[in-house]
Amino acid sequence: MVIGIDLGTTNSLAAYFTEDGPKIIPNRLGKNLTPSAVSVDPEGNVYVGETAIERQSLYPDSVARTFKRSMGTDREYVLSGRHFRSEELSSMVLRVLKEDAEHFLGEEVTEAVISVPAYFDDKRRKATKKAAEIAGLKVERLISEPTAAAVAYGLYDKTKDTRFLVFDLGGGTFDVSVLELYHNILEVRAVAGDNYLGGEDFTRVLEKLFLQKCKLTMSELSEKEQVRLNRQAEKAKCSFSDNASVKMSFLYRDQTVEQEITLKEYESACEELLDKIKEPVKKSLSDAGLKLSDVDEVILIGGATKLSVVRDFLIRLFRKFPDTSLNPDETVALGAAVQAAMKERREEVKEIILTDVCSFTLGTEVVVEYEDGKFEDGRFCPIIERNTVIPASHTERLYTVRDNQEKVRVRVLQGESRFAKNNLFLGELEMVVPKGPKGKEAVDVTYTYDINSLLEVVVTAVSTGFSQSLIIKGEENQMTDEEIRERMQELSFLKIQPKDIEENRLLFLRAERKYEESLGEERKRIDYYLTSFEAALERGDKDEIEELRAKLLSILDEEE
Ligand code: AMP
Repeated sequence: MVIGIDLGTTNSLAAYFTEDGPKIIPNRLGKNLTPSAVSVDPEGNVYVGETAIERQSLYPDSVARTFKRSMGTDREYVLSGRHFRSEELSSMVLRVLKEDAEHFLGEEVTEAVISVPAYFDDKRRKATKKAAEIAGLKVERLISEPTAAAVAYGLYDKTKDTRFLVFDLGGGTFDVSVLELYHNILEVRAVAGDNYLGGEDFTRVLEKLFLQKCKLTMSELSEKEQVRLNRQAEKAKCSFSDNASVKMSFLYRDQTVEQEITLKEYESACEELLDKIKEPVKKSLSDAGLKLSDVDEVILIGGATKLSVVRDFLIRLFRKFPDTSLNPDETVALGAAVQAAMKERREEVKEIILTDVCSFTLGTEVVVEYEDGKFEDGRFCPIIERNTVIPASHTERLYTVRDNQEKVRVRVLQGESRFAKNNLFLGELEMVVPKGPKGKEAVDVTYTYDINSLLEVVVTAVSTGFSQSLIIKGEENQMTDEEIRERMQELSFLKIQPKDIEENRLLFLRAERKYEESLGEERKRIDYYLTSFEAALERGDKDEIEELRAKLLSILDEEE
């Protein structure tokens, strides 16, 4: 079976297609969301998800989160002294999702449709594929997150042509996409976004507000205190959905500090962030040639769109209520599962043709000649512009810039900068041209880009008709079977915990953290039940273990 996976910055989840439509696959702890967090201990045990997050306050040096932000970069994370790249950490999350899906579905899962932010460039997309390959998953297709969301919404009840704006505010990234459903063709018209804006920024605003009220600064807090404050702020932020004010308390140097924060105070502290949100909305609409009022439906996805501050802001901006009939946390995974079903050509799924846009500009390096005769080299000339619907093919004619020039070199670049050196180099071609005065000879450079990230570059000398071509594959960096085996081998020391051990370990960690955070009677009570639970585990009496487990769980739930 091909499953759909939303590999998120904060949370990841998997879904599969059933006769009744797409459904989320619960993880080994029975939850739909698996936090995208990885922890490795000195013995090489790997903890993924909630357990990894619980370890953060006790062993901050052993945990990595939000590593999706560094996908495709050389950044390394050090966990208990071992080095990992973002795609390796992501592969561990994918491995757990795959194992949980296999356990739930009762069959082997080897293929997946995985979602990526529309804004991910080629390098980041390749890194995502690599992560999947290391996890033993073949990527059937990468689908951009907003497309997946529109697929999840668009397939079932849309009969008329519709213009969607998909507003995706996740933990660490923000994407806006404008899509159009027209005669069964779902076309992405434009994408825009900010790779460094998300729900975490809204948490940080609350942390800052709280510290301000307590007359404290972040630098006065120890690392553990900072983690604890973040946890408190995260909880408080989520409870703003149903409350006009929240009480935040936190243990600072053995003293409980408490403050009440009203929604009004929080809203005005968020103004700067809300302003930042407006920009990509405007940019995507103007790239698509639309006005705010042309949007038929606003779809919200990403956990941070549950924030009332964000929802109210959007209602004011669009003067309409967004569509939230699907859970914003789950929409992308559901859409990916629908896409997986389309790939499998399942009868239940109405075939919808998905088009995509090129989310970055493809171009070449040129020399620019100004009116005063001066030259400037190293400039970037766009050939296929950002947000062009793909497949697309464009040609640009480039002229020689020196007398008796013998060759024209075409460097293939990707990016938005005016300067070639700031853009990503993808490859190059050289074309021989007949000698002559500058500006006489020319080459036609044609770029053809398709939906599978295949870029074909053809350079033709205009006077001789000679041409040369180069194909730059999206999968060019795909690892060979040998490389994947090697990397899997290297990572095989990592042991992922079986389900029952994981559940107990999670409970332990939570209790240990709560013990550290509390004082007096509360602390004694936790200690008592934690010690009893430990003893029961050692004795191995199943009934006793279950009873104490339930007791300890209820105490922790009560305290928190
Ligand atoms: P995602 O990356 O889509 O999983 O989104 C994660 C972000 O959503 C985090 O910053 C969470 O704090 C935020 N989030 C999740 N649930 C809520 C909620 N009920 N209210 C506000 N923010 C939420």
